[in-house]
Amino acid sequence: MTSYLNTINGQPVASEQVLASINPATGETLGTVPVCSPAQVKQAIAAARAAQPAWAARPDAERKALMMQVAEVIKANAPYLAEWVTKEQGKPLGGVGPDQVPGARFELWGCEVWTQVPASLELPVEVVFEDDTRRDEVHRKPFGVVAAVAPWNWPLLIAIWQIIPSIRSGSTVVIKPSEYTTIGTLELVRLINTVLPPGVVNTVSGAGEVGAWLTSDPGIDKIMFTGSGRTGARIAEAAARNMVPTTMELGGNDAAIMLPDADPKAMAMGLFWGAFINMGQTCACAKRLYVHESIYDATVQALKELAQAMPMGNGLQDGMVMGPIQNRMQYDKVVDLVESAKKAGGTIVCGGEPKGGAGYFYPLTLVTGLHDGDRLVDEEQFGPVLPIIKYQDVDQAVASANRLSAGLGASVWSANVERAKEVAGRIQAGTVWINQHGMIHPMVPFGGIKGSGYGVEFGVEGLKAVTRPQVISIKK
Ligand code: NAD
Repeated sequence: MTSYLNTINGQPVASEQVLASINPATGETLGTVPVCSPAQVKQAIAAARAAQPAWAARPDAERKALMMQVAEVIKANAPYLAEWVTKEQGKPLGGVGPDQVPGARFELWGCEVWTQVPASLELPVEVVFEDDTRRDEVHRKPFGVVAAVAPWNWPLLIAIWQIIPSIRSGSTVVIKPSEYTTIGTLELVRLINTVLPPGVVNTVSGAGEVGAWLTSDPGIDKIMFTGSGRTGARIAEAAARNMVPTTMELGGNDAAIMLPDADPKAMAMGLFWGAFINMGQTCACAKRLYVHESIYDATVQALKELAQAMPMGNGLQDGMVMGPIQNRMQYDKVVDLVESAKKAGGTIVCGGEPKGGAGYFYPLTLVTGLHDGDRLVDEEQFGPVLPIIKYQDVDQAVASANRLSAGLGASVWSANVERAKEVAGRIQAGTVWINQHGMIHPMVPFGGIKGSGYGVEFGVEGLKAVTRPQVISIKK
């Protein structure tokens, strides 16, 4: 069995202990990865610290050019890395175009684009005040060493979201991938280290305790975390002790609201992918669908037809659109929530029973007849299950959307964009999409509010978020 290694200071590093990476479609062991010791975490932070001044001192054009080379490395190795995403995470390989299934190849294409875009963005000096007596400039400075902790749902794409803006602005990075999807990230970082100077991007693998050692270390200057709210709160506590700023991208429970004038047939495909991309294991998936009573039955029917037509299986096989749930814990959570929905009087429109056999496969499941307060509505399912809730008036739907602590995304669906915008403005969420859901873009800031976290990623705002402002104030 192959043992995959961390990269620290540009060198492959093994650990005494290892953990196995499992294919969720088959249960097979794919290889082992190191479980870093506390000393190895310190070693990685020291390597990042040592590399940072020279990295930050490079001319901007040089850093940009190196980052474009990183994008080329990702592109050249995309088939290899996409296969790891499918084998470890479960999403089918799919394709990249607009008509293609957004699977592992799409994830690698995203990695390339989310590298090129920050590489081409600038953070020029801003003159915020000037008169006859003074001139005040805001300069953007790198933080220093960024600790990144990533989840298992989009393992490579989220790693890139954390790594690339940080190094673009002159910081160096130590990243801990999820223990469920480690190999792909170790391989990605090994490959991009072929063009980056040693120490600029380092990995430390292992379970939560390795993440805790990393994020509580006083040698860290900034933390980027994507994962559950519970872990986010622990990291925020540790960061507070060291006065370290954090970006928290936490869970969501996005509401999608179909207004009475929305066309169920025309909107079904967008709604479907908004809810079921990556088997629903996406932070900003539509996780509660509120539909006006006048179009309720037609919407349920249109979604049912799509859900039943999607082939599910091992994502390495051609033609697969849906894969397994990524891990046992998540699978059990989905089963539990569907069973709770049945007990609460919900009607299973399709799916609703585990498939059995090897792998964590669970059918695409639509549930009607639920209400606010039922567990499947109130708790983040993070899986292939969608509750469809009937409403009578729009104010009621907006109140439903806003009643939970989650505030990542939401969407409003309507034939009238102005009407949809008015509703969107009343929803408490970091992003409200109109007639689409979850459609993130590398130029558009993305982040949650309330229990979904704080701070944004992507675009100029995202780049600013991984820098410190420094004011230079000049007397004339
Ligand atoms: P998780 O919080 O269990 O784990 C995330 C990472 O944190 C893993 O690498 C884990 O090892 C590490 N970790 C665990 N305990 C730690 C500790 N005490 N200190 C430091 N690190 C620790 O989350 P998950 O199950 O991997 O991801 C699923 C969750 O992430 C969902 O709730 C989902 O909505 C959320 N998510 C949010 C976004 C977003 O952008 N908002 C994106 C993807 C996923």
